[in-house]
Amino acid sequence: MGLEGTSTNRPVRAVVLGQRSETVRRSNLSAVLRALHERGPQSRSELVTGTGLTRSAIRSLVGELALVGLVTEARAEARGRPGRPSPVVRPVPDGAVALALEIAVDSLAVALVGLGGDVLFLERVDRSRDRASVEATIEALVDLAGSAREVPGRADPLVGVGVAVVGVVRRADGSVAMAPNLGWKDVPLGALLATALAPTAPIAVANEADLGALAELRRGAAIGRDDILFVSGEVGVGGGLITGGRPLTGAAGYGGEIGHIPVRPDGRPCRCGSNGCWETEVGEEALLLRAGLPSDGGRAGVETVMHAAADGDTRALEALADVGRWLGIGLAGLVNVLDPRLVVLGGRLARIHPFVIGPVESELRRRALPAARALVSVVPARLGADAPLIGAAELAFEPLLADPVAVVAERGSALIEASA
Ligand SMILES: [Zn+2]
Repeated sequence: MGLEGTSTNRPVRAVVLGQRSETVRRSNLSAVLRALHERGPQSRSELVTGTGLTRSAIRSLVGELALVGLVTEARAEARGRPGRPSPVVRPVPDGAVALALEIAVDSLAVALVGLGGDVLFLERVDRSRDRASVEATIEALVDLAGSAREVPGRADPLVGVGVAVVGVVRRADGSVAMAPNLGWKDVPLGALLATALAPTAPIAVANEADLGALAELRRGAAIGRDDILFVSGEVGVGGGLITGGRPLTGAAGYGGEIGHIPVRPDGRPCRCGSNGCWETEVGEEALLLRAGLPSDGGRAGVETVMHAAADGDTRALEALADVGRWLGIGLAGLVNVLDPRLVVLGGRLARIHPFVIGPVESELRRRALPAARALVSVVPARLGADAPLIGAAELAFEPLLADPVAVVAERGSALIEASA
């Protein structure tokens, strides 16, 4: 804004008021759309209570959002109460769509998610680890994104692209500082995907565990919680930390790399260059090696261990119990530092949760401080392996939710043109 607003002939006060009312409208539209996206259909009365706005403000804001196809309103069923029922407002799934992409070590995934969180399309493809070069990955993601958008009836308006990657990401520009399990270092992923996909909407890139945490918070096991620790495990182990409702990312976004907490000074070498990191004891490779299987067995290898354990195979059960003990040791330290209410185990750790929860709880009883331990529970991710992908969609919706005015104005003027 600067001084430009004051250099016109218009009265200064009117300009200031005009700007302020525009700012207010912007933040109110954002509050209403976010409430509907995050918490689902609500009556106008519930929106009044939830946002603290007046009844007439809600009526007018919902009207604006309905006009441009982001929400619909329908009269609610009368529930035997006196008076007229308040109309129910719903987000329109194909009114705004997010494209989500995920780069894991041995799989890639794509999803289209509609406003309100409906998953409209989801595909995950396994890939061998020697196909993890940057070029091959980008090429495969472009193919996946193309096939998702070609699904009939899915050419809906794209409002953002979110990308989850198993690496340390600089949030400002979406570049991957390092992804040890992909063998990547200083990859400008955001810029490369912007060129390759040429999307009509902004691209945002973030760490997969951070996004898994976001997804579980909005749509999964941690709804309504403010202090959670999401532990994502496949080949590597990542963490998504939310304290007081806010993600803990560190100064540049590199924080939360709990997989590289040193836990065993004489432990096995880690791909980060150190040795004895937590992920060398609780990651997928540690489980497979303890069970006597090749360390690169991936998802299929973990399933083999699970089936053997279910059949009572001693070696498989011991391998899982060992992973559980190391998981509990690391979690005890994290619980003492962070005091979370909920620890959500994601990725392959969600799959093995039933077999590891016993040893985890017993290490927590031995090692975590009683006050913090008494308040925490350890649960599997409700969204399973897709949590980071769903989180990537949530990230992609963020520009629309933060400021729906641009989309409302663009669609509004298109409507006016069409009717002229
Ligand atoms: Zn490490």
